[in-house]
Amino acid sequence: MATEEWNRIVTELPSRLEDSRAYTAQGRVAAYIPELAHAPGNALGIAIMNGASGIITAGDVALPFTLQSISKVFTLLLALMDKGESGVFAKVGMEPTGDNFNSMLKLELVDPGIPFNPLINAGAIAVSSLIAGADPAEKSERILTFFRQLAGDPTIGYNDAVYRSETATAHRNRSLAYFLKANGVLEEDVEEVLEVYFKHCSIEVNCTQLARMAQVLAFDGTDPVTGRQLIPRRYVQIAKSFMITCGMYNESGAFAIRVGLPAKSGVSGGILALVPGKYGIGVVGPALNAKGNSTAGVHLLETLSTEFDWSIF
Ligand code: GLN
Repeated sequence: MATEEWNRIVTELPSRLEDSRAYTAQGRVAAYIPELAHAPGNALGIAIMNGASGIITAGDVALPFTLQSISKVFTLLLALMDKGESGVFAKVGMEPTGDNFNSMLKLELVDPGIPFNPLINAGAIAVSSLIAGADPAEKSERILTFFRQLAGDPTIGYNDAVYRSETATAHRNRSLAYFLKANGVLEEDVEEVLEVYFKHCSIEVNCTQLARMAQVLAFDGTDPVTGRQLIPRRYVQIAKSFMITCGMYNESGAFAIRVGLPAKSGVSGGILALVPGKYGIGVVGPALNAKGNSTAGVHLLETLSTEFDWSIF
């Protein structure tokens, strides 16, 4: 049943989105993974799902983009389902770093040298190693199956060009991973772990598919469309806590103050956000600020959260 708020979103979303689109000019498309540089810098799209009954979209919603760091939330959830809290938190911490997402600075500052949290690259690489499976192919297959189930869409797949582009150029992630191996965090072959990591970063979606994944988190692990519990509630609680403290990289504090919603961004310009118990939101705006977050995407979420009083705080 459509609420008054839902009707207002229907009416206001197109103009709000066009207002925010101006902010794409303040950002730049990521180019350190060469294939990502082809994304349209002025694009902005959003999909909002309200549980079972409806979806509202505006802007460039058909634009496909790779999940990149957004995938880290869901591999964390799968690792928790595979290994439990004790298994995961033996390899990765619970604290934000305040550093860039691909920084290795803090790895040497703590003892034991485990990554600070699962949403920075080092932490997500450690999490990739925890996914159950006999080999990288089986681990990747399990991740893709899980993501498809959350999106309610069996057609979701990889962007092979992005996967190959990252594999060929990921010198920094390789150095992080070898460092983790030296610290005893990774027990498996480093290149095999990286294969799993690069693969899940290159899973491609559009805003609608991302919004559907987000709403499983908004409804505590239950897919509101099918009514099936896909993830234990406790694990969703852990994921949402990380999204608040670390989900927007080293801009998570500002995002919590300005938007106040659990969210996760990726360098392709995607942002997954959720309004607990209400909406799953998928955004894409490939032009990024210096921290790696979509300039226009953050602006649009801030506008909507302010307008509709969505902050959880
Ligand atoms: N695949 C990207 C990387 O490892 C993901 C990073 C991101 O989205 N911030 O660099």
